[in-house]
Amino acid sequence: MNWVALVWSLSAGASLMLGGMQLLIWFKSHRRAPETLALAIIAFAMPGVAFCEWQMMNSQVSAQYLQFVRWAHAPGFVMLMGIVAFVWFHFRTATAWLAWAVVGLRALVLVLNFGGPGSIGFKEITTLKQASFLGQKVSMVAEAVPNSWNHITELSVLVFVWYVADASIRLWRTGGHGVRRKALLVGGGVIFFLMVAGVHSSLIHAQAINSPYVISLAFFGILLPMAHEISHDVLGASRLADSLRQAQEQTKLAAEAANLALWTWDISKDRIWVTDSGLSMYGVENGKDVTIERFFETLHDQDRGRVRQSLNQAIKNGIPFAETYRVVRAGAGVRWISAMGKVESNSDGSPTFMRGISIDITQQRRAEERTALVVEAAPNAMIMVNHSAIMMLVNKQTELVFGYTREELLGRSIEMLIPGRFRDGHSSLQRHFFKHPETRAMGAGRSLVALRKDGTEVPVEVGLNPIETEDGLFVLASIVDVSERMRQEREAAQLSAELTHLSRVSLLGQLAGSLAHELNQPLAIILSNAEAAEQMLDEESALDVPELSAILKDIISEDLRAGGVIQSLRKLLKRGEVRLQPLSLNEVILSVLRLVQGDLNARNITVQKELSSDLPPVKGDQVQLQQVVLNLILNASDAMEKSPAERRVLRLVSCVNERTVRVSVYDNGTGLPGEDPESVFRAFSTTKEQGLGLGLSICRSIVAAHQGSIWCENLEEGGAVFHLELYHTESESS
Ligand code: ADP
Repeated sequence: MNWVALVWSLSAGASLMLGGMQLLIWFKSHRRAPETLALAIIAFAMPGVAFCEWQMMNSQVSAQYLQFVRWAHAPGFVMLMGIVAFVWFHFRTATAWLAWAVVGLRALVLVLNFGGPGSIGFKEITTLKQASFLGQKVSMVAEAVPNSWNHITELSVLVFVWYVADASIRLWRTGGHGVRRKALLVGGGVIFFLMVAGVHSSLIHAQAINSPYVISLAFFGILLPMAHEISHDVLGASRLADSLRQAQEQTKLAAEAANLALWTWDISKDRIWVTDSGLSMYGVENGKDVTIERFFETLHDQDRGRVRQSLNQAIKNGIPFAETYRVVRAGAGVRWISAMGKVESNSDGSPTFMRGISIDITQQRRAEERTALVVEAAPNAMIMVNHSAIMMLVNKQTELVFGYTREELLGRSIEMLIPGRFRDGHSSLQRHFFKHPETRAMGAGRSLVALRKDGTEVPVEVGLNPIETEDGLFVLASIVDVSERMRQEREAAQLSAELTHLSRVSLLGQLAGSLAHELNQPLAIILSNAEAAEQMLDEESALDVPELSAILKDIISEDLRAGGVIQSLRKLLKRGEVRLQPLSLNEVILSVLRLVQGDLNARNITVQKELSSDLPPVKGDQVQLQQVVLNLILNASDAMEKSPAERRVLRLVSCVNERTVRVSVYDNGTGLPGEDPESVFRAFSTTKEQGLGLGLSICRSIVAAHQGSIWCENLEEGGAVFHLELYHTESESS
C-alpha cells in the first residue's frame, strides 16, 4: 500500500469536495456569506500545494524538485489569503493593519520567490536523496544553498500567527459560549497548524531535518476546524429556519384564528403572497400570480383611487400604509377591510417588499352604522364632544332643536350652544366631568337653557354619558327640549288654579243665603240706628248727646262688621297669585267662622272652639287655607243636616306638635261613606245631589303644595273628623 499516495490524494480529494460544498453554500446563501467563499478558496488551493509536494517527492532531479518548491508558493499564497479573509469575515474582530501586514508580507514573499533564482527557501538544491517516508521511498533535499530572504517567510508566519491570535483573543473577550468555542477551535487550530507548517518548513530549509514538505497536510488540518465551524453555523441556521417555519406556521394559525390575513407584496416582481384566509377575505380564488392590480380589482369603485394613492404614498415616502376600504365579493356582498402594511427597502433605499395584515371589520362597521342610525333617529338631540369640548357627532334632532346645520356644528366648541352668561361655569363643569366621568343628569335641580342659532333660548334637560373609545374619553350629551312640556305644565297649573278658584266660588255660592242674611243684619241695625238718630235730631229738645254718640258707635261697628264680611268675600272671590307668608291657623279658622257663622246659625249648629293659645305660625297662602277650612266646615255641616238639633255640634280644635300644627274638624254627622275613608279625597266622589265631588281633592292638592297632609277618619261615637297638619315655621329653623 502506497501510504504517501493515499494520504496526499485523499486529503486533496477531501479538500476539493469541501471546497465544492462551500462554494455551493455560498451561492445558495445569495452570496451573502463571504467566509464560506474564503473557505472554498482555501479548499481549492490546497490540492495545488499537495500536487507540488507530491511532485517533489517523486522528483528524480534536484532542478525539478526546486521548480515545484518554487511553484508551491502560488497556491500557498492563495490559501493564506483565504485564511486571512476567513478569519476576517468569520470572527469580525480582526485588526485591519495586521491583516494588511500579513497580505503585504506574503505578497513580498511571493515576489521574492518568483523574482530570484530557485525559491525563497533555497537558492539552489545541490543533491537529492531517497529516504523512507510513511513506508515509501521519496525524494528529499540532501544538500542545498539556503536563501537568506527566507527570514521574511518566517516573519510572515509570525505576523500571521499574531493576526489570528489577536482576532481570536478579541473574539474570546466578546463573551458567549459559542463564540469562545469558535475562538478556541478555529483560532487555536489555525495557529497550531500554521506553526507546524512554518516550523517544519524552516527546519527543512535549514536542513536540520530530512523530510518532504507537509504543508498541504497542515493546511488540511487548518481546513477541518474551519469546515466544522461553518457546518455548525449551517446546522444552526437550518435549526433556526425550522423554528422560523414553526413560528411562521403558528403566526399563520393565530392570524387565522383572529380572522387576520397576512400578506407580502414583492414589489419588484409585483407578486402578492397572502394566507388562505386572506384569499377568501378578498374573494380571490387562485392564489398564484396575484398582482397589485388584481388586488385593486377587488376594491369598491369609490375606494380604489384613495387606496391606490395611499399605497403609492407609502412606497414613495417609506411610511406605513393604513387604510380601511370595501371589498366587493361576488355572492358575499360588500365587506369592510382594514389593512396595515410596512415597506421594506434594500441597501440602496429602493422599496423591495411590503408586508402587512388585513382584518375583516364588517361586523364592527355594521354595529357602528347601526349605532349611528340609532343616534340619528333618537328623539333627543345627541351631541358627542371630545376632551376639548369639540362636537364630534350630532344627530338630526340637534339640527332641529338648535337651528344649525350639521356642518355648522361639527368641529366647533359646544359652548356656541350655551348662553354667554353660563359659558364660564360650563368649562369648569366639563373639566370636572372628565375627571369623574359617570352617567348623570347635568345641572340636577337647576333649570338649564340652551342657545339657538337665532339667539333665542330654549329650556332643556341634559343627560351626560361618558364614552370610552380608542381615541380617549368622549361625552355623549342627550338634550331634550322641554319648552313644550313646560308650557303644558304651566297650562295645567293655570287650570288647576282656575279650578281651585271655581270651587271656592261654588263654596261661597252655598253661603249666599246666609251671607245675605249676615249683611242684612248690620244694614238693618245701621238703618234703625240712623232712623233713631234722625228722629232725635228732628226733636231738638230731646237731643241726648251721649245717646247719639252710642248710636253712631253702633252704626260704625255694624258697618265695620258688614264691611268685614264683604272684605272676606272679596278676598276669597279674587283670582289672586298664591303667596306664602307666615300666618296663624287660628286666625284662618276665625276668619272662616265669621263668614259661615250665619249659615251655621241657620242650620242650628253649635260651634265648639278649642284653639291652642300658643300656636306657632305656619307658612301658607291665606286664601287657599281658608278655602280648605271652609270646605271642611261646610262638609261637616252638610253631614249633620239630618242629626237631631242637640247633636249638631261642630268642634274645631287646633294644637301644636313637635314640628307641626294640626287643625281638626269634628262633627256628629253621618260618618264617611263607604269602606275606605280615603275615597272622599278622590275627584268626583260625592254623595250629595248638588255636589261636584271636587272640594276635598282640591283641598288635598292645596295641602300637598304646602308640604302638609290632610286625612280623615270615622269617630266611634258617630260622625267624622278631618285633620289638617302643616309644618310650623319654628320647625324650619330647628
Ligand atoms: P262635595 O261636597 O261636592 O260632595 P267634597 O269633595 O267636598 O265634595 O266631598 C266629597 C264627599 O265626601 C261628600 O259628598 C261626602 O259624601 C263626603 N264627606 C265629606 N265630608 C264629610 C263629613 N264630614 N262627613 C261625612 N261625609 C263627608
